[in-house]
Amino acid sequence: MTKKTLKPKAGTRTKTGGARIGRRKRIDTATDPYLLKEEYPDASECKKCRSVYHDKRWMHPNNVPIEAGAVPRKKVLCPACLKIKDNYAEGFITLEGEFLAEHKDEILNLIRNKEELAAHINPLERIIEIKERKGGIEISTTTEKLAERIGQILKKTYHGSVDYKWSSDTKLARVVWMR
Ligand SMILES: [Zn+2]
Repeated sequence: MTKKTLKPKAGTRTKTGGARIGRRKRIDTATDPYLLKEEYPDASECKKCRSVYHDKRWMHPNNVPIEAGAVPRKKVLCPACLKIKDNYAEGFITLEGEFLAEHKDEILNLIRNKEELAAHINPLERIIEIKERKGGIEISTTTEKLAERIGQILKKTYHGSVDYKWSSDTKLARVVWMR
């Protein structure tokens, strides 16, 4: 796999240091460098995905409340579109197996639908890239949660086996689904 190496972020190392991969899940959105990088004024609008920043959170364009609708919007790039632009992934999903090869299009449709549903709830949860390679498919996502959710829906819909690994000192999930 030729992914870029994900360096542990400053200030998020555990006492022991190193990028331990364990099953313990750490929820700490405060360590997301893309959420800290920029201060967005209220009613900022992403020029790429049209998400709107309102009330200190990003909203899908369909979910923006009326009171935020009339305000002139500053055009920005939201944290998810910045991650996509930088190819900065926090979730990786590997799909493998014979069943996958036979049902590839159907499975990819399910994953795309899941992304769309997730984006309605949180537009920062997005797929960065879907790469087909010999014997499987590699998907990267902007958040570790979306990778986890895609693993769950694959397991629920098609069964097979799924394995989750979270790094303890970086916000990173690796999901492997096989059938
Ligand atoms: Zn965006």
